[in-house]
Amino acid sequence: MIRVLHQEIVNCRRCPRLVAFRERVAREKRAAYRHQGYWGRPVPGFGDAKARIVVVGLAPGAHGANRTGRIFTGDRSGEFLYAALHRRGLASQPHAVGRDDGMSLSDVFITCPVRCVPPDNRPSPTEIAACAPFFTRELLALRRARVLLALGAIGWKACLDHFAREDQPVHKPRPVFAHGAEVTIGHFVLLGSYHVSQQNTQTGRLTPAMFDAVLKRAISLAARSPVDT
Ligand code: SF4
Repeated sequence: MIRVLHQEIVNCRRCPRLVAFRERVAREKRAAYRHQGYWGRPVPGFGDAKARIVVVGLAPGAHGANRTGRIFTGDRSGEFLYAALHRRGLASQPHAVGRDDGMSLSDVFITCPVRCVPPDNRPSPTEIAACAPFFTRELLALRRARVLLALGAIGWKACLDHFAREDQPVHKPRPVFAHGAEVTIGHFVLLGSYHVSQQNTQTGRLTPAMFDAVLKRAISLAARSPVDT
C-alpha cells in the first residue's frame, strides 16, 4: 500500500511553483554535483513500514533529497539526523549519501509534510495544504506508528493538522511547538525538536546531545506503546 502511495507522490505535479523550482534546481545543479543526475521530483518517506517512531521534517533539501531522491540524504541535515539515529540503534549506518547506500532503518520512518523542495525552505500555506493528503495517507499506512517526532514548528503544525483532519481531539488552545515539547493525542505522542538544519546544528542551538535526548525519549515512549498489528 505504501509503495503505491509513494509512486503517486513521485509523479505529483500539483504545485506549479514547486514543480518549476525542483526541476530548475535539478537542471542547474550545485557545482560540486555537476556530474551527477538530480532526482528533481517529489520525495516520499523512507524507513521501516512497521515503525513506531515517525520523524517529521519540513521538505526536501535542494541539493540533498532533491538531488538523491531520499529524504534527508546527501546534505548536512541528513548527516546529523542519520548519525543520531545510528547512535541510538535505529539506523544501520551513520552516513546517508544516496538511495543505494545500503541504509536501513529499524522502528523509525522519516517523512515530511511537503514533498518538493520549496524556494528558501518556505512552502506557502496553499502548497502545504495541497501536499497534506499525502502526509495523512502515509501516516495512516504506518499502522504501528505511535510517536511522531516533529522537527521544527512546521512539522509540528503539520502533525496537529493531520490529527484535526482525522478527527482526533487536539487540545485547545493548540499545543505550542518547543524543543522537548510533548503532547498525547489519542494513542499518539507528539514530540517536538528543533529542526536538524545546519542553521540550528552549526550554531549550537541543537547539539547532538540535545537530539540524542529527544530520540531517547521517543524510544522510551514507543516502548510503552507496544502493538502487534
Ligand atoms: S509539494 Fe506535494 S502536492 Fe505539491 S507538487 Fe510536490 S508532491 Fe505534489
